[in-house]
Formats: sequence, C-alpha cells, structure tokens
Amino acid sequence: MKILEPSAHAAPPMAGDDTPAPVFSIDDLCAMLAHYLEPEHVDQVRHAYMFGAEAHKGQQRISGEPYISHPLAVARILAEMHLDYHSIMAALLHDVIEDTGIVKEHLTKEFGEEVADLVDGVSKLTQIKFQTKAEAQAENFRKMLLAMTRDIRVILVKLADRLHNMRTLGPMMPDKRRRIARETLDIYVPIAHRLGLNTLRLELEELGFATLYPMRYRVLAEAVRKARGNRKEVLQKITLAMESRLEQEGLTGHILGREKHLYSVYQKMRGKHVSFSEVFDVYAFRIIVEKVDTCYRVLGVVHGLYKPVPGKFKDYIAIPKSNGYQAIHTVLFGPYGVPIEVQIRTEDMNKVAESGIAAHWLYKAGDKSGGAHIRAREWLREVLEMQKNAGNSLEFVENVKIDLFPDEVYVFTPKGKIMQLVRGATGVDFAYAVHTDVGNSCVAIKIDRHLAPLSTALNNGQTVEVITAAGAQPNPAWLNFVITGKARANIRNYLKNLKSEEAIILGKRLLDKALAEVSLSIVTLPEEWVMRLLQDLKVKDLDSLYEDIGLGNRMAALVAHRLIPVDDVANERSRTGIKNVLTRYVPAWLKGGERSASQPLLIKGTEGMVVAFAKCCHPIPGDQVLGFVSAGRGIVIHSEECKNVAEFRNRPEKWIDVQWAPEVTSEFPVEVRVDVVNQRGALATVAAAIAEMGANIDNLQFEERDGKYSTLTIVVEVRDRVHLAKIMRRIRSLDIVARINRTKG
Ligand code: MN
Repeated sequence: MKILEPSAHAAPPMAGDDTPAPVFSIDDLCAMLAHYLEPEHVDQVRHAYMFGAEAHKGQQRISGEPYISHPLAVARILAEMHLDYHSIMAALLHDVIEDTGIVKEHLTKEFGEEVADLVDGVSKLTQIKFQTKAEAQAENFRKMLLAMTRDIRVILVKLADRLHNMRTLGPMMPDKRRRIARETLDIYVPIAHRLGLNTLRLELEELGFATLYPMRYRVLAEAVRKARGNRKEVLQKITLAMESRLEQEGLTGHILGREKHLYSVYQKMRGKHVSFSEVFDVYAFRIIVEKVDTCYRVLGVVHGLYKPVPGKFKDYIAIPKSNGYQAIHTVLFGPYGVPIEVQIRTEDMNKVAESGIAAHWLYKAGDKSGGAHIRAREWLREVLEMQKNAGNSLEFVENVKIDLFPDEVYVFTPKGKIMQLVRGATGVDFAYAVHTDVGNSCVAIKIDRHLAPLSTALNNGQTVEVITAAGAQPNPAWLNFVITGKARANIRNYLKNLKSEEAIILGKRLLDKALAEVSLSIVTLPEEWVMRLLQDLKVKDLDSLYEDIGLGNRMAALVAHRLIPVDDVANERSRTGIKNVLTRYVPAWLKGGERSASQPLLIKGTEGMVVAFAKCCHPIPGDQVLGFVSAGRGIVIHSEECKNVAEFRNRPEKWIDVQWAPEVTSEFPVEVRVDVVNQRGALATVAAAIAEMGANIDNLQFEERDGKYSTLTIVVEVRDRVHLAKIMRRIRSLDIVARINRTKG
C-alpha cells in the first residue's frame, strides 16, 4: 500500500497528476502474489483477471484507461495487505455484476460460491447510496454497510475500491469529486478506523481532505514544510538522547521520529480551537521493541530521561482500544520545554496498529488451517477477549455487536432518512417507527417502489414507503406479526379505545331497546334514578355502564329492571313489564316455535369489534340469526341452524334476538365445499368463476379425496344469500364440478 511519508505532504496527493506511472500488469500482480500464495491459487487469480478483462472489454474509465486497470489496482492494494486469493479474485471481479451483464450464478459456476458471494456483497454495498450529511445519518449508514456485510472481506474489497477511486479522482467533475470525498470522510474513514486499518485510513483522510478543502490543505502543507526545518535539530537531539539511554540500560528498540498527518493536525485545530503551532510543535516518537515487558522497561527509561506530564500516561496494552490497538502512550517535558509524545509498542502491536484486521492475514500467510474469513472472526474474538480481560468497556462490546453480529436492520425512508429497526421488523413496525398516526392509518407498503404486504420483513438498504388512507384503522391481525414494542403497544391501545367506543354505542342501543319494550326511555327517566343505579352498580358514569352492557358484562334487560325503584308503586307496572321482557328475550325456538313480539336488535355488520360473526356457521344476510352475549367480547352472531347454538340451550339469558338490518352493505365470509374432478386447472377454473361473480376468496384448502375427485373448501366473501346462491349456481354449472354445498357449523 502506498504509505504517505511525511515528505508526501509537500504536494497534495491529488490524484490524476500527469506523471505517467509505469503500467501495472497482471504479471506484476501475480509476481507479488507468488510471495505468499500457492501457484495454483495464483493461476486462479489470473483466470479471474482474464474473465474480468473480457467482461469489461470496451469499457473505459473517465481517464481513458481500459476499465480493467481499476479492478487490477484494487487487487494490488489487497495484495499489499497479503489478503487471501478469494479476496484478490473478488477484487478483480468486483464491478462485473454492477457494470456488465454478468449475473452472480455465472460467477458461482466459474469461480465457486465464496468468490461469487464476495462480489455480490460488494455490489450490494455499491447499490445503496448515502444521501444526507447529518452526523447521525452517517453513523447509521456506516452501521447499515457493516450490517449488510456477513463477510468482513467484502468491506476490505470495498475499502480498497474506494481508496483507488480516491487516488484517481482527478479527471472527474469538481462537484462529483467533492461528493465522493465527503462520503469517504464521513463513511469509509470511520469504518477503516473501526477495523484498525490505519495505513489505509490515513491515506483516505489525506486524499479526502485535499479534495474537499484544497486551499486549507495547501496552507497547512506549506506551514508544515516551514516548521519542519526548525524542528530537525531538536528531533535529532532527542532521538540521540533516548538511543544512548536505552543502550545504557541494555535495551534494544527502534526509535522513529513521527510527524502528524495533515488531516489530524487540521482536525485538532478545528476541534480543540488551538493554533497550528500548539498542535504541530509537539515532538512525537515511536519506539518499537521486541517483547511486551520491554515496553514497560522502556517507559521507565524515558520517564527517567524527561519528566512526564501528569495525567497523560495511557496504557493501551493492558486496556486495548476498541479496534484492537495496543501501545503505551506518554507525554514528556522535553528540552527547551517542548512537549514530547512517545508511543511504545511491540512489532506485533505495530502491525495491528497499521493494518488492523488485515494484519491477521499478514501474520498467518502460508498458514493452511481454516478459511481466512474464519481466522478474521477469530481475530475479532481475540480482540473482544482482550478487552474483557482488561476490564470491561461497555461501549466496545456494543460496537462489536452492532457491527459484526447484527441484530438490527437499517432502511431508508423515501426522503433518504435512515431508520434503525430490530431485525425482522415488518412494514407495520416501520410505519409506527415513522409516526404513530402513520402506523394507525397504514394500508400498504412499497419496498423499493414495489407494493408489498404489510407483514413483509424488511432487509438492510431497502427504501420503504408507507401508504396510508384516511379512515384506515389498525387491524388486530397485525399483532400476529409486528415485533417492535412501539407498534404492539400502539395497536393494542388503539384497538382498546376503539372497542370501548364501539361498546358504548352498542350498549346504549341495547339499553334503549330494553327500556323501549316498556315504553320508557333513558332521557325521560328521572335523573336521580339513573344516578342511584350508577352508585348501586359502582359504575363511574353512564358511558361506562353502556360499555359494560356493550361488552356483554351486564345484560341490558337486567339493568333496565334495576333502573326503576322498587318502592315506587306507580312504577310497579313497568317493572313487571320488564320482567316479561326478560322472559320474552328467550329466542323463539327455545320456547317452542313462537317468536318474540319484541323488536329484535338490528345488525348491520359495521358495529366493529363488539359484534362478531361466528366462524362455525358463517352467518350472512338473509340467514335467520341469533346473538349470543359473551362477557368481555360483546355479541357473537350465529346462524339459527348452527350446531353450537343447540349446545348453549341451557343458557337462555345469554341469547338476544337479532335481525339483519335492511340496508346491510358489508361483505361477509361464508364457507362452501366443492367437489371437483381431478384435472389440471380445476382449482383455477373455480377461482376464476368466483372472481367473475364479484366475490373475493378469503381462504382456500385443497384436499384430494380419491383418484377421481378432490374437495375444495373455500371461504368466500359475499353480500348476502342471493349473492351466494348466484355464485353457487355459477360454480355448479362448471363441467369439472360434481357437487357444491354451503358448510354449516
Ligand atoms: Mn470499483
């Protein structure tokens, strides 16, 4: 990898400068790989190159070079990190899915699943676009990228891709250049940092800084160039002093003078509001030693040489940083009072500090055990373990969990805002995450502009749009699939309020009806009677009483009975009247045929959750029906012919006389059983006939009875008996239908 030497700061590392670099060829790449890969693997890499070159044939980069030079350069960056041959192959092929007509299956056949998965992963990352600048957005976007990545090598290929693109920004339009640079600093630099890829990160930072703020970059570079002259002498003096002291103590170490990178100087000046000289006039050294305990001995030596600045000592060996970084940091008062920063670390720690996760491949090059990816996971686990032993940092554990063991999913709103949800969250969860009102009135969702069911689980990177409708209401069935607490609580709450509103309306109707039987009305009754009843029943107001009645917790007739005071002789007749009503409430068939003279309750089908239609007999308008009062649930409507009705014979007080309202407009499910001849397309023919008659199919079951016939059990939504009869006639007329009948509970 190209490492930015301090001298590189003099000229901005702007890409596209005109000096023609010697062309890097596939042979050069193979020669590099031969140092650490088996010959047959190098051959496979060459094969991937040939394939990529063919696929990109005729395509050019903006610079005019053949397109394949870009994947080749990306592969080179990864080869410098000694990545495994699968990653190198994926680098050579990383744009073929996105930019040529080649599909993943083709790559699987040609190069195996591992390489195809890597290329596919990189393509998916390329497809999602970062849109807004807000800091929180950037953080979520980074998480989304990492959450989408099951294989950490996908990120490594993507980062190498971005690095090469940054190096070759030159020929692009200025605003595009700035956009890419901004995205690099906001998204890719922090990811590289998190993975400990410091060398790569520093170069991305310098390139991004130079592109985004060319003036500031030039001014700072110039200031550094001037300051460097004055510093040389001091640097040498300190280096010599430290070297000779280490020698006296019999310690061997490598002392390096270190200069701060321009971007970090710039960030310090901006973030801490300090002057250039305050940031830059710090002399920084790195001492690399062989063994861990030598680090501590070297620390003792330098503290003996110069006085340490209190509060600046940090032991990242005992407590590593979240990306696995280890070293001892200290600050000393140097000669002439200049501050000296010293980092002490071992050779191994230095490799991790420079290459982070990639250092793993560097260490174990040639090790044949296990896949590189598994080894990378191990590395991460080791880092995690290290952290645990060193005394817990919650933040670290959480970061690792979010990024590498994702249990979250990140999706876009149509405006490009990123929403974070629990993995498995559905369209309804998303709608409630946007806003409670959006959730309460959602009717459908679009995922990546295609309509999808509300129950669809969302995936990372999708754009999700909620379609709402005025007057739409949450469906109790949503509770079966939502997984976020917010959605669940809001749906429950809404339904509870709705049910209680509906119960109040029904309860009032029932009580009015009971009172009307004896020619009374709640509005004409003396108010003190009502108040006394509420007190007796310990109910807080009339609405609560209605709600109780509507939910089936109290019988309307009994409440009416108690409304009228016992001691009032004049009302004795009314009380008797209500007693008669009570007996007359018993359905006609229970009393032996004679139907009640009282007015039945009219049912429209729009009463809501307090009036339900029995699933055993599926009553529809036109059927003779009965209501069964069920505590807490309201009224369940059954067909008079339903078998379950007979079972409840012994509880006549629970039955209520009901009748269909004349103007019912809803649709009701009804179950029919159709015997059809076994032949291809039979099911489709029946379904088409139903659709033709303007009815929806709710549910359908198919059961083969014998070699000749099958039985279809269909729940179809109809307006009434007439509608059903027409549908059945239509189905019966089909050649393939042997028999059709309506099922009754
Ligand atoms: Mn690319």
